[in-house]
Amino acid sequence: MQNFNVIKVRGARTHNLKNINIDIAQGKITCIAGPSGSGKSSLAFHTLLTESKRRFINSLPTDMKFFWEIPHTVDVDSIYPVLPAWGLPQHNPVINSRPVALDVLGGHERLQRLFMELGSFVCPDHHVPYEKFLAMESEIIKLKKDKASDEEVYHVFAKADDYRRTVSSEMNPSRSFGKTLNEFNEEDPWYELFRVKRKNIDQILPKLKEAKLREDADILLYVLGAKKKIQLKHTYEYRCPICNRHSEAQKVTNVESLSPLNALGACPACEGHGAILTYDREKLVKDPTKTIREGAINFLNFSHFQHLFSTFLKEAKKAGYDVDVPFKDQPQSIWKFLYDGAGKYEGFNEYFEYLKTQRYKKNIRIYMRSMQTEVLCEACEGTRVSERAGSMSLVLKDRVVTYKDFLKNNFVDSSGCLKKIKEDLKSVLLHEKLMTTFEKLERLYLVGVDLGLGHLQNTRKVRSMSSSEYQRLLLSKYLSYEGSQSLFVLDEPSLGLSLSTQKKLIQYLRSLRDQGNTIIMVEHSEYLKSTSDELILMGPFAGGRGGEVLYQGPYKEDKNKLPKFDYNLNGSKHFIELEEANIRGLNKKKIEIQKDAINWVHGESGTGKTSFIVNIIANEIHKNVYGTRLSFEDYTFKKLKGVKDVSDVIVINSSLDKISSRSTVATYTDLGGFVRKYFAGLEVSKKLGLKEGHFSSNSELGQCLSCEGRGVKIVEMQFMEDVEFVCEDCQGKKLKPYYANISDGTMTAYEAFNLPLSEVLGHIKLTPKGKRIWEYFKILKLDYLSLDRTLISLSGGERQRLQLLTLLDKKIQGAMIIFENLTSGLSHHEYAPLAELLHQLSGSGNTVVVIDQNAFFAQISHHQIEF
Ligand SMILES: [Zn+2]
Ligand SMILES: [Zn+2]
Ligand SMILES: [Zn+2]
Repeated sequence: MQNFNVIKVRGARTHNLKNINIDIAQGKITCIAGPSGSGKSSLAFHTLLTESKRRFINSLPTDMKFFWEIPHTVDVDSIYPVLPAWGLPQHNPVINSRPVALDVLGGHERLQRLFMELGSFVCPDHHVPYEKFLAMESEIIKLKKDKASDEEVYHVFAKADDYRRTVSSEMNPSRSFGKTLNEFNEEDPWYELFRVKRKNIDQILPKLKEAKLREDADILLYVLGAKKKIQLKHTYEYRCPICNRHSEAQKVTNVESLSPLNALGACPACEGHGAILTYDREKLVKDPTKTIREGAINFLNFSHFQHLFSTFLKEAKKAGYDVDVPFKDQPQSIWKFLYDGAGKYEGFNEYFEYLKTQRYKKNIRIYMRSMQTEVLCEACEGTRVSERAGSMSLVLKDRVVTYKDFLKNNFVDSSGCLKKIKEDLKSVLLHEKLMTTFEKLERLYLVGVDLGLGHLQNTRKVRSMSSSEYQRLLLSKYLSYEGSQSLFVLDEPSLGLSLSTQKKLIQYLRSLRDQGNTIIMVEHSEYLKSTSDELILMGPFAGGRGGEVLYQGPYKEDKNKLPKFDYNLNGSKHFIELEEANIRGLNKKKIEIQKDAINWVHGESGTGKTSFIVNIIANEIHKNVYGTRLSFEDYTFKKLKGVKDVSDVIVINSSLDKISSRSTVATYTDLGGFVRKYFAGLEVSKKLGLKEGHFSSNSELGQCLSCEGRGVKIVEMQFMEDVEFVCEDCQGKKLKPYYANISDGTMTAYEAFNLPLSEVLGHIKLTPKGKRIWEYFKILKLDYLSLDRTLISLSGGERQRLQLLTLLDKKIQGAMIIFENLTSGLSHHEYAPLAELLHQLSGSGNTVVVIDQNAFFAQISHHQIEF
């Protein structure tokens, strides 16, 4: 009998999977564990998630598919049934500057709807609602001030259509044939609606209201005696009753007009980005120790301005500046001179204007960007919305909450604010049938706060978030999902979470499961493993020696206990000290980092671990060493001691920032070179005159010409998904076939790049340097990787260990090295070699800072910093 309560996977062979068959329980939480590289992600992500997504997208009408990135076919015989699937990646893929936290959380539209339906517009200065009145009112007031006789008569006229509209009403308007107004013409005549005497002038407005004219109708007010004609529009205006400020509120008529993606909703100053680009003094003058003559002013070194340099020097001298002292010793006033210019020197401001007109040229755009820094838009305070959208407000019992103020909140305060709104506006909420929208929004914030995101501001740029923050944000959205019959695939959701937060997480996962959803997670946390419904263990080892299912069933304890460590943890007596620092609204009295030692930074999420360590301390060191910033967050502090002699600062996290899509293990480490050299050194290669380049897919000598060394050809199909063909000429080998097949008797050049390193490097003679790198590969359990493996296909943890490996080889000294969530993806019998390498780094005089929740660091760190 067919069992419908499982997802049947048959013949899975993606990456290292050994043609496995497995049934995964539907409606359950399954945890996949095993050593790093054993095939956990290959099964969960590259098989189940990818195939589900691909089939789902293929089931869409073709015109919708346009917007989706279509995954490749995966190597599996069958998966049944295929559920709609959601995945949680381990890195933050957002590079676009627009999205903010609230967008990813999925709360933006709900919030807009709430404000649109329940809100009114208030004056941003006085927080009182705008009052609506007829635009004509001010004209009437003017007329009242005229010194005219009480016998004066005011005639009120309207155009034909509006006149007819009012004929049926009890006003009984009369048609006037221009006896008194000779300007009337027959095609488009004015019709008199009514007339009043001056002493009754106050009746004009009520009578007009009675006439129920449409908005924008034309009105002619004729003052008989004075023969004065006043043409007016019958429009309403919104004004603050205190300051008389006008509002264009009437133009905001639908939910979209509150959105920063809408022309009316977007802040005009930053075009809805929440930030603007300004020229940055630190970039205009990169090296203040240089003199002006030596080219301190970077901006003037640009090829477009070089010819101006001699004029500039002359004018600077004339203005009284010594061009031969270091720039840092110039008086502050020099900036005014630089910007405004003097004599024949036109000044930066002129040049900026000029560059603006040249923006269409790509090199100019890139150049401008390199001189600029993104700063918060002052007009909208980073909220991205226009003044009118931002002034939409909820009037509560004791205060007014503007849409803009709400957006400026963090998640905790948003949650609190919603509570207040519910109390005060409950009757209206129910009446407007907004309760569901409201409750969903409430839940989103609640889950976010529970997962340690309470500190996130609604308008925090997604791009600036850590991987773990991004992941939890997406997770909050998933956990608030209300449907059923979906598949959720999560990659280490415990990343960066304390145990208490993991407890909340499993509760949410269970309620998601109880709605009838299937959850699969790749996890190492013993707590999450033990609380899942089912455990799948992959192994036994990594790469080619893994890819099998070792165990499936209820949780069983891992017999390999965490090893005991016995390091001497005294370390140096020197500290880096940061005092009274302030960033993103968080304060710290003192942070001490022990130098030449391993520092373990831990504590609840949202306490600012990364902010203080990376965005302040590392940033200050970076400024000292390179003269440029590492991060552009705003912060203040009173004192920072002990950083002067730090030689370098290196931050290693799982971000993909500096990694190109074509980077491979071979290009990132130097190992590719050894293999190429080895093959170029073979007898057969010497006879043929082959160089190292002949074995490189990045060199024109070696790369297959028809696919340019990619191994695949992509054929774009109109209205259908692009098709990726393995290149016929090289059969996916990337190299010209002739060279790819050159062999040393045991393996071909192609195989050398595609077999696991453990099978390749064994019989290649390595230089001492090569031997060292190869040792690190083994120690860090990365020897199952092949040289051609792309870096983007690695997990965050694998990537970090690869970075660590290249660091070790560089023999750096006196640097500060920061790791974030370094143990992600590692099971605990892989901790010992990691500890050894970190001690090597600190032992050779580096300050190691590990931001990680993994308690194993307590045993190997010299110093702990608890947040
Ligand atoms: Zn006002
Ligand atoms: Zn703005
Ligand atoms: Zn090819």
